[in-house]
Amino acid sequence: MIRELHNKLQNKEITSVGLTKKYLDAIEKKDGKLHAFLDVLKEKALEQAETIDKKIEQGEELNVLEGIPCAIKDNMCIAGTKTTAASKILENYVAPYNATVIDKLDEHGAVYLGKTNLDEFAMGSSTENSAFGVTKNPHDHKRVAGGSSGGSAAAVAGGLATWALGSDTGGSIRQPASLCGVVGFKPTYGRVSRYGLIALASSYDQIGPITKTVEDAAIVFDTICGRDENDNTTVKKNSESFAENIKVDLKGKKIGLIKEFFSEGLDSRVEKAVRQKLQNAQSRGAELIEIEMPMLKHSLAVYYLMMPSEASSNLARFDGIKYGLSENDSVESILDVYLKSRQAGFGDEPKRRIILGTYTLSAGYYDAYYKKAQGVQELIKKEFAKAFEKVDVLASPTSPTPAFKIGEKADNPLEMYLTDAYTVSANVGMVPAISIPSGTVEEDEKKLPVGLQLIGKWWDEQNMLNIAHSIEQMS
Ligand code: GLN
Repeated sequence: MIRELHNKLQNKEITSVGLTKKYLDAIEKKDGKLHAFLDVLKEKALEQAETIDKKIEQGEELNVLEGIPCAIKDNMCIAGTKTTAASKILENYVAPYNATVIDKLDEHGAVYLGKTNLDEFAMGSSTENSAFGVTKNPHDHKRVAGGSSGGSAAAVAGGLATWALGSDTGGSIRQPASLCGVVGFKPTYGRVSRYGLIALASSYDQIGPITKTVEDAAIVFDTICGRDENDNTTVKKNSESFAENIKVDLKGKKIGLIKEFFSEGLDSRVEKAVRQKLQNAQSRGAELIEIEMPMLKHSLAVYYLMMPSEASSNLARFDGIKYGLSENDSVESILDVYLKSRQAGFGDEPKRRIILGTYTLSAGYYDAYYKKAQGVQELIKKEFAKAFEKVDVLASPTSPTPAFKIGEKADNPLEMYLTDAYTVSANVGMVPAISIPSGTVEEDEKKLPVGLQLIGKWWDEQNMLNIAHSIEQMS
């Protein structure tokens, strides 16, 4: 899709302004219902598009993303625009600098249509935790778009942007992509700079693309990955271009089906759709191997210990002084400002995680919880390493169920946490993973998308992207 649009732009069959206007019109018509966007950057987008059209007129060669409209999750900073992380505490916060991914996209001439909705501080699986209202699933407006990057996934699935950026700490790119029927790709931890991304859990957060095709995901990935001086966990890019090297490559590839992720708690219709896809891959030459990974069942526990610990410390900076909302009327002390601002600014979920995280990090509990979780994390990584001695990629459903109804799980945080059961392992293991569409199930006379998750080996995105691309091309 991106390459097609690129060729049309370059051959002057369409203009970037024309394309941008088409999307802005679609947003105006449809986003009242979907609520994928928190902020539409109409003027900025048209200005960017005009500059690119001038380049085209002058016969200049375009970068592949140049002039193509996209959407950015509202936890990434674009200088001079509001960046709220869907929280009241940052409601009027204007970013003074660009995230590194935005600098990179600027260099490549991307056009930003707007900032997309998310669960507050990326905490959630349904965008119901957004302080500014839920995003609806384009396939059924009564259902959630997933989360936390629900706005980005709904924007791409609903035809409101060609592609979007999301962030994934425990599944927030892959799960909404799965529920909305698009592609969502979380790179290996350390591939993409987190500088300018509002942190949830720094040792798990990764930025990645949400797109219509696997090739598009590779194109965006090419642009945003690489070493960044501002994020010392990043590494140098090891491939000229993932997108240019992408190919149909399924013959003899070993796909490991994670046994524990095809068991209790999985919706049988989802299981059928995913198995069907994998069997098709088998008939095209892939080898399916069932793999037992008993450690993975502890990923959720590890995640829900380490993530709140890191989140509670990351959120300490929102104190009513340095950023955003400040409750400083009729206060008696500085402590009052902190307490009142945080009380008024944070929603229930950040508060819940701050309490959990502060508890697990406190003296006496740190060793029993945080340190223990770190130990189990190492065992999970070892289990991945062992599995990748046998297979090229691992496979599972992305989410145990299709999109659920708005409100269905909102009052039950534990049930909500279970929706991450198949995605968090990749974050805990720091490996790359992708969700691709894998058929649909019917409910309430609506066709709801199902996602197939492929998990790759550290830094071996190319192999994983090739297999994902091959499976996508089968249908
Ligand atoms: N749903 C998970 C959570 O609530 C994952 C969030 C994410 O990946 N940002 O933490």
